[in-house]
Amino acid sequence: MRSFPSSSPLPLGARRLPGALCRSGIPFVEFLPFFPVSPLILTNVSSAARIDVAPPRRFRPSVHRALRTWTPCCQTTHPYPKEDHLMTDQELVERAFTMLQYSYVPYSHFPVGAALMCADGTVFTGCNVENSAFGSTICAERTALVKAVSEGHRDDFVRIAVVGNSADYCWPCGACRQMLYEFAPELIVLVARADHSFVRYPLHELLAHGFGPKSLAQG
Ligand SMILES: [Zn+2]
Repeated sequence: MRSFPSSSPLPLGARRLPGALCRSGIPFVEFLPFFPVSPLILTNVSSAARIDVAPPRRFRPSVHRALRTWTPCCQTTHPYPKEDHLMTDQELVERAFTMLQYSYVPYSHFPVGAALMCADGTVFTGCNVENSAFGSTICAERTALVKAVSEGHRDDFVRIAVVGNSADYCWPCGACRQMLYEFAPELIVLVARADHSFVRYPLHELLAHGFGPKSLAQG
Protein backbone atom coordinates (compact mmCIF):
# COMPACT_ATOMS: atom_id res chain seq x y z
CA MET A 1 0.00 0.00 0.00
CA ARG A 2 1.45 3.37 -1.02
CA SER A 3 0.30 6.82 -0.14
CA PHE A 4 1.21 10.42 -0.79
CA PRO A 5 -0.29 13.63 0.60
CA SER A 6 -2.59 15.79 -1.45
CA SER A 7 -0.11 18.66 -1.34
CA SER A 8 2.61 16.70 -3.06
CA PRO A 9 2.97 16.58 -6.85
CA LEU A 10 1.47 13.61 -8.56
CA PRO A 11 3.71 10.75 -9.53
CA LEU A 12 4.77 10.36 -13.12
CA GLY A 13 1.96 8.98 -15.23
CA ALA A 14 -0.80 10.01 -12.86
CA ARG A 15 -3.53 12.57 -13.30
CA ARG A 16 -6.49 13.76 -11.32
CA LEU A 17 -9.85 12.41 -12.30
CA PRO A 18 -11.89 15.52 -13.03
CA GLY A 19 -14.95 15.65 -10.85
CA ALA A 20 -14.36 12.24 -9.38
CA LEU A 21 -14.78 12.29 -5.66
CA CYS A 22 -15.21 9.52 -3.20
CA ARG A 23 -18.10 9.69 -0.77
CA SER A 24 -15.93 11.71 1.60
CA GLY A 25 -15.43 14.33 -1.09
CA ILE A 26 -11.80 13.52 -1.66
CA PRO A 27 -10.56 13.61 -5.24
CA PHE A 28 -9.17 10.57 -6.96
CA VAL A 29 -6.05 10.22 -9.00
CA GLU A 30 -5.55 7.55 -11.55
CA PHE A 31 -2.47 6.33 -13.29
CA LEU A 32 -2.50 6.55 -17.02
CA PRO A 33 -2.63 3.40 -19.08
CA PHE A 34 0.70 1.73 -19.62
CA PHE A 35 2.17 3.39 -16.58
CA PRO A 36 5.23 1.24 -16.03
CA VAL A 37 4.60 0.39 -12.39
CA SER A 38 0.94 -0.46 -12.47
CA PRO A 39 -1.64 0.82 -14.92
CA LEU A 40 -4.49 -0.15 -12.67
CA ILE A 41 -3.96 1.83 -9.53
CA LEU A 42 -6.58 4.37 -8.69
CA THR A 43 -5.34 6.61 -5.95
CA ASN A 44 -7.36 8.37 -3.37
CA VAL A 45 -5.37 11.50 -2.57
CA SER A 46 -5.81 12.82 0.91
CA SER A 47 -3.79 13.37 4.02
CA ALA A 48 -4.32 9.71 4.71
CA ALA A 49 -4.15 8.63 1.13
CA ARG A 50 -4.99 5.15 0.19
CA ILE A 51 -4.63 3.23 -3.03
CA ASP A 52 -7.14 0.84 -4.40
CA VAL A 53 -7.21 -1.24 -7.48
CA ALA A 54 -9.47 -0.06 -10.25
CA PRO A 55 -9.83 -0.45 -13.99
CA PRO A 56 -7.51 1.52 -16.28
CA ARG A 57 -8.56 4.78 -17.80
CA ARG A 58 -9.78 3.42 -21.09
CA PHE A 59 -12.44 1.54 -19.18
CA ARG A 60 -14.06 4.76 -18.18
CA PRO A 61 -17.63 3.42 -17.74
CA SER A 62 -16.27 0.85 -15.34
CA VAL A 63 -14.31 3.47 -13.46
CA HIS A 64 -17.39 5.54 -12.96
CA ARG A 65 -19.35 2.50 -11.93
CA ALA A 66 -16.70 1.78 -9.35
CA LEU A 67 -16.71 5.32 -8.10
CA ARG A 68 -20.46 5.34 -7.66
CA THR A 69 -20.14 2.45 -5.28
CA TRP A 70 -16.98 3.70 -3.69
CA THR A 71 -16.84 3.34 0.05
CA PRO A 72 -15.37 5.88 2.49
CA CYS A 73 -11.64 6.26 2.54
CA CYS A 74 -11.04 3.97 5.44
CA GLN A 75 -12.33 1.02 3.52
CA THR A 76 -11.10 -0.89 0.57
CA THR A 77 -12.93 -1.59 -2.64
CA HIS A 78 -11.91 -3.94 -5.38
CA PRO A 79 -14.20 -3.38 -8.35
CA TYR A 80 -12.72 -6.35 -10.17
CA PRO A 81 -11.59 -9.77 -9.12
CA LYS A 82 -8.07 -8.70 -9.92
CA GLU A 83 -5.35 -11.01 -8.85
CA ASP A 84 -2.28 -9.77 -7.04
CA HIS A 85 -0.05 -11.28 -9.67
CA LEU A 86 -0.24 -12.87 -13.05
CA MET A 87 -1.35 -16.42 -12.49
CA THR A 88 0.75 -19.26 -13.73
CA ASP A 89 -0.81 -21.62 -16.22
CA GLN A 90 -1.49 -24.16 -13.49
CA GLU A 91 -3.04 -21.54 -11.22
CA LEU A 92 -5.33 -20.40 -13.99
CA VAL A 93 -6.35 -23.99 -14.59
CA GLU A 94 -7.09 -24.44 -10.90
CA ARG A 95 -9.14 -21.25 -10.92
CA ALA A 96 -11.19 -22.67 -13.76
CA PHE A 97 -11.74 -25.87 -11.82
CA THR A 98 -13.32 -23.88 -8.99
CA MET A 99 -16.05 -22.91 -11.45
CA LEU A 100 -17.28 -26.45 -12.04
CA GLN A 101 -19.44 -26.23 -8.95
CA TYR A 102 -21.49 -23.44 -10.54
CA SER A 103 -22.19 -25.19 -13.80
CA TYR A 104 -25.87 -25.66 -14.61
CA VAL A 105 -25.86 -28.91 -16.51
CA PRO A 106 -29.09 -30.85 -15.81
CA TYR A 107 -29.08 -32.28 -19.33
CA SER A 108 -25.52 -33.14 -20.25
CA HIS A 109 -24.20 -33.59 -16.71
CA PHE A 110 -20.95 -32.32 -18.15
CA PRO A 111 -19.74 -29.35 -16.10
CA VAL A 112 -17.15 -27.07 -17.67
CA GLY A 113 -15.24 -24.23 -16.08
CA ALA A 114 -13.26 -21.43 -17.67
CA ALA A 115 -10.94 -18.68 -16.48
CA LEU A 116 -9.96 -15.90 -18.85
CA MET A 117 -6.99 -13.78 -17.87
CA CYS A 118 -6.29 -10.27 -19.11
CA ALA A 119 -2.90 -8.64 -19.46
CA ASP A 120 -3.33 -6.77 -16.20
CA GLY A 121 -4.00 -9.94 -14.24
CA THR A 122 -7.74 -9.56 -14.08
CA VAL A 123 -9.43 -12.94 -14.31
CA PHE A 124 -12.97 -13.49 -15.52
CA THR A 125 -14.47 -16.86 -14.82
CA GLY A 126 -17.32 -18.77 -16.38
CA CYS A 127 -19.21 -22.02 -16.31
CA ASN A 128 -21.54 -23.64 -18.77
CA VAL A 129 -25.21 -22.84 -18.35
CA GLU A 130 -27.63 -25.15 -20.09
CA ASN A 131 -31.21 -24.56 -21.01
CA SER A 132 -34.22 -26.74 -21.71
CA ALA A 133 -34.20 -25.11 -25.12
CA PHE A 134 -30.86 -26.67 -25.86
CA GLY A 135 -29.80 -24.08 -28.40
CA SER A 136 -29.90 -21.42 -25.72
CA THR A 137 -27.13 -23.11 -23.78
CA ILE A 138 -23.90 -21.17 -23.35
CA CYS A 139 -20.46 -22.62 -22.76
CA ALA A 140 -18.11 -21.70 -19.94
CA GLU A 141 -15.63 -19.98 -22.23
CA ARG A 142 -18.22 -17.71 -23.75
CA THR A 143 -19.64 -16.95 -20.32
CA ALA A 144 -16.23 -15.74 -19.21
CA LEU A 145 -15.71 -13.84 -22.45
CA VAL A 146 -18.96 -11.91 -22.36
CA LYS A 147 -18.42 -11.11 -18.71
CA ALA A 148 -15.05 -9.62 -19.60
CA VAL A 149 -16.25 -7.69 -22.63
CA SER A 150 -19.23 -6.32 -20.73
CA GLU A 151 -16.83 -5.01 -18.10
CA GLY A 152 -14.74 -3.08 -20.60
CA HIS A 153 -12.08 -5.62 -21.48
CA ARG A 154 -11.66 -6.26 -25.15
CA ASP A 155 -8.13 -6.20 -26.48
CA ASP A 156 -6.08 -7.52 -23.59
CA PHE A 157 -6.88 -11.20 -23.29
CA VAL A 158 -3.78 -13.32 -22.88
CA ARG A 159 -4.78 -16.76 -21.60
CA ILE A 160 -7.85 -18.84 -21.00
CA ALA A 161 -8.16 -22.12 -19.14
CA VAL A 162 -10.92 -24.54 -20.09
CA VAL A 163 -11.45 -27.47 -17.76
CA GLY A 164 -13.76 -30.39 -17.20
CA ASN A 165 -13.98 -33.64 -15.32
CA SER A 166 -13.50 -35.65 -18.46
CA ALA A 167 -10.88 -38.28 -19.12
CA ASP A 168 -9.92 -36.51 -22.33
CA TYR A 169 -8.96 -32.85 -22.50
CA CYS A 170 -11.94 -30.52 -22.40
CA TRP A 171 -11.52 -28.94 -25.80
CA PRO A 172 -13.41 -25.73 -26.50
CA CYS A 173 -16.19 -26.12 -29.04
CA GLY A 174 -16.12 -24.43 -32.40
CA ALA A 175 -18.46 -21.63 -31.38
CA CYS A 176 -16.22 -20.71 -28.46
CA ARG A 177 -13.10 -20.79 -30.58
CA GLN A 178 -14.79 -18.43 -33.01
CA MET A 179 -16.00 -16.06 -30.29
CA LEU A 180 -12.57 -15.88 -28.69
CA TYR A 181 -10.90 -15.43 -32.09
CA GLU A 182 -12.86 -12.24 -32.61
CA PHE A 183 -10.95 -10.58 -29.81
CA ALA A 184 -7.71 -12.48 -29.42
CA PRO A 185 -6.39 -14.74 -32.21
CA GLU A 186 -3.13 -15.03 -30.31
CA LEU A 187 -4.83 -16.08 -27.10
CA ILE A 188 -3.15 -18.96 -25.27
CA VAL A 189 -5.64 -21.71 -24.55
CA LEU A 190 -5.02 -24.10 -21.66
CA VAL A 191 -7.11 -27.22 -22.00
CA ALA A 192 -7.32 -29.46 -18.95
CA ARG A 193 -8.77 -32.82 -18.06
CA ALA A 194 -10.00 -34.38 -14.85
CA ASP A 195 -6.54 -35.07 -13.45
CA HIS A 196 -5.78 -31.33 -13.75
CA SER A 197 -3.11 -31.87 -16.35
CA PHE A 198 -3.40 -29.59 -19.34
CA VAL A 199 -2.12 -28.82 -22.80
CA ARG A 200 -1.34 -25.39 -24.18
CA TYR A 201 -2.14 -24.07 -27.64
CA PRO A 202 -2.39 -20.68 -29.29
CA LEU A 203 -5.95 -20.10 -30.39
CA HIS A 204 -4.96 -19.61 -34.01
CA GLU A 205 -3.80 -23.21 -34.06
CA LEU A 206 -7.10 -24.44 -32.65
CA LEU A 207 -8.93 -22.35 -35.23
CA ALA A 208 -6.68 -22.36 -38.25
CA HIS A 209 -7.47 -19.77 -40.93
CA GLY A 210 -10.09 -18.31 -38.65
CA PHE A 211 -12.59 -15.69 -39.71
CA GLY A 212 -12.13 -12.44 -37.81
CA PRO A 213 -12.72 -8.69 -38.11
CA LYS A 214 -9.91 -8.37 -40.66
CA SER A 215 -11.70 -10.87 -42.86
CA LEU A 216 -14.44 -8.32 -43.43
CA ALA A 217 -12.06 -5.85 -45.05
CA GLN A 218 -13.17 -5.14 -48.59
CA GLY A 219 -11.17 -4.47 -51.70
ZN1 LIG B 1 -18.15 -23.80 -26.41
